[in-house]
Amino acid sequence: MNIVVLLKRTFDTEEKISIANGQVQEEGAEFIINPYDEYGVEEAIRLRDNHGGEVTVVSVGGEEAEKQLRTALAMGADKAVLINTEDDLDEGDQFTTAKILTSYLTDKNADIILAGNVAIDGGSGQVGPRVAEGLGIPYVTTITQIEVNGKAVSITRDVEGDSESIQTSLPVLVTCQQGLNEPRYPSLPGIMKAKKKPLEEIELDDLDLDEEDVRAKIKTLDIYLPPQKAAGRLLEGDISAQVDELVGLLRNEAKVI
Ligand SMILES: Cc1cc2nc3c(=O)[nH]c(=O)nc-3n(C[C@H](O)[C@H](O)[C@H](O)COP(=O)(O)OP(=O)(O)OC[C@H]3O[C@@H](n4cnc5c(N)ncnc54)[C@H](O)[C@@H]3O)c2cc1C
Repeated sequence: MNIVVLLKRTFDTEEKISIANGQVQEEGAEFIINPYDEYGVEEAIRLRDNHGGEVTVVSVGGEEAEKQLRTALAMGADKAVLINTEDDLDEGDQFTTAKILTSYLTDKNADIILAGNVAIDGGSGQVGPRVAEGLGIPYVTTITQIEVNGKAVSITRDVEGDSESIQTSLPVLVTCQQGLNEPRYPSLPGIMKAKKKPLEEIELDDLDLDEEDVRAKIKTLDIYLPPQKAAGRLLEGDISAQVDELVGLLRNEAKVI
């Protein structure tokens, strides 16, 4: 089975985001594999181990994304592809990323493409479905279970705490939700092996794309942090006095009643 994982390098979930000159500051920040993409890598490895084939991890980004691609190789993926946009593009949006990935995947005949349900930074959840649309294949989002039997695919997807069962067929793109699996940590032998696994680097030119073809359709006007939340207030004393005080506060301070 030809399995592809779309992998995004994102801010570490522990990082405190800071903004200067209207830009999120990346300097000194730690980066990781987008956590939902880790589920994708783990599931891809399990599918390959059960059905045979090969796992390719693909990222659109700069040179720095090599680190996260190597981590996926250390987990057990077979090869990695970095589509390096550094020299060609200053800006990009979901359209840009999806168009680049679609162009790359067009002649790859992937049986299953696994993406994250959402990137924890950009967070639009658009890239996976856009790629599937571009390729003209079915997609199922927020999956928590997948079973492949020949060409038939049975999927369970999370629908806000409940679940839905879906039957589809290969080729398919799925987006991974928490609960799909428990991603493994790269082992020491895995890390050693990863150094020798192929990591191909290509550019827009190699995909017959130029800047115009992938120009962002979104213009970001402003980026700002949410306002600081004021500390909560605890009312004390007799319940009826608390109710009176609460009503007074809602009316006079919060001005919501
Ligand atoms: C050249 C370029 C410049 C950019 N510049 C900026 C910028 O200045 N500011 C800014 O905020 N953002 C920038 N971006 C990022 C962009 O706006 C989006 O964050 C990105 O396209 C993904 O959208 P998302 O984060 O909403 O991902 P989602 O759609 O939420 O991601 C869902 C899934 O799609 C896949 N995916 C998403 N992105 C990638 C990727 N890059 N490679 C492989 N798989 C992926 C992953 O599987 C991920 O889990 C740039 C992107 C490009 C290509």
